[in-house]
Amino acid sequence: SETPKPINDHIAKRHKVSSPILSLSYDEPIYMVGAAFQYMYDGYGNTFLDAYNNIPHIGHAHPEITKIASQQIATLNTNTRYIFDAYYDYAEALLSKFPEALDTVFFVNSGSAASDLAMRLAHAHTKHDTIMVMEHGYHGNTQTSIDISHYKYNNKKGQGQKHHIIETAIPDTYRGQYTTNDGSAGKAYAQDAIQQVENSDTPIAAFITEPVVGCGGQVPLAKDYLKHVYPAIRQQGGICISDEVQTGFGRLGDHFWGFEAQEVVPDVVILGKPIANGHPMGAVVTTKAIAESFSKGVEFFSSFGGNPVSCKIALTVLKEIESSQLQQNAKVVGDYYQSLFNTLKERYNCIGDVRGSGLFIGVEIVQDNSIEPNTELAHHIKNELRNRYILISTDGPHDSVIKTKPPLCFTKANAKLVVDTMASVLEGYYENRV
Ligand code: PMP
Repeated sequence: SETPKPINDHIAKRHKVSSPILSLSYDEPIYMVGAAFQYMYDGYGNTFLDAYNNIPHIGHAHPEITKIASQQIATLNTNTRYIFDAYYDYAEALLSKFPEALDTVFFVNSGSAASDLAMRLAHAHTKHDTIMVMEHGYHGNTQTSIDISHYKYNNKKGQGQKHHIIETAIPDTYRGQYTTNDGSAGKAYAQDAIQQVENSDTPIAAFITEPVVGCGGQVPLAKDYLKHVYPAIRQQGGICISDEVQTGFGRLGDHFWGFEAQEVVPDVVILGKPIANGHPMGAVVTTKAIAESFSKGVEFFSSFGGNPVSCKIALTVLKEIESSQLQQNAKVVGDYYQSLFNTLKERYNCIGDVRGSGLFIGVEIVQDNSIEPNTELAHHIKNELRNRYILISTDGPHDSVIKTKPPLCFTKANAKLVVDTMASVLEGYYENRV
């Protein structure tokens, strides 16, 4: 058989047609040719355990998705100005997973488009412009989404904070100002946020946050935080938006949606990534009242949003979560996975915190016996795991948090392999240092 091209040839080819603004993962990028469930295959005969990609929610190249998508592509793929079953079949199934008040859905093609639309809904419903956003939050790549994403606009190369944005401190009980996560920290952070809302010269249109701040380093909002903040937003006529692009669809184990852990019901929910297992789809779920305000404006139309192929795929994802009990698996395997990381934390002082829930976990890498981020060691771990055929990533304001959020078919044996391998990477690291 033909000798495979060296990786540098692939890198050079890609650089020729692309721009360095599109990054590649790892010091040694991977040339991928295939994937199945929680495994990915490179062009050199290697198999990687995927402990990172949350988009192939029910597993890479899932055969049910392949079957349904092929059937539907061969039958009808068109836009929502025609009536077809898949649209309301999926809409009904999706809405049945939400509290009763959230009874209306709009389909788009990405999380970014969903964030953008959520901003339009907020403006249409409230006639206000001011948006309160979360420190380190990320909501997408459109101009509007960047404007509400502290993670991007606050970057040293970013565009800076726009005048209509209020930025509130992340209610982080590990590194933040208040650290007792029994509800008291959540209340204290909320009081600070409420003060900002009350001090605003202009009324609030919306408050947007993820329930676990992903790009911020997998930081769960302090207990009870939203319960206190939401009423203050609503008192000004504003709406509350939960970005569930990363956290939705059972990944958190205990809950199907992240907002449920905070015992609140948002006015708008943004969905993306896992919704169609990698097929490009996003959605905005809202109330009738907000949808009615929006419908007084210009027509809403998305060429691809809500097409029958997307709806059929998304319905298959929901069915598979249920029939294979994937939320339950996220809970059981996620709890075990966290317990293994916690055991490792007892052995190594460079692990400062293990957090998250279900199969959405962050491991904070710090300078020994401190809470100072250790970016270099986090990168070392990430790259060494990659060299040992395990995919994880790093994120957070200092890029020092190990992120793991695998497909939900991840097993206990997979979890053990990740943590055992990380243990051997750390062992080697400390041996080489003495
Ligand atoms: N919201 C969150 C929380 C996200 O993590 C992302 C993507 N990383 C988005 C929105 C944007 O989604 P997309 O990349 O599909 O536009």
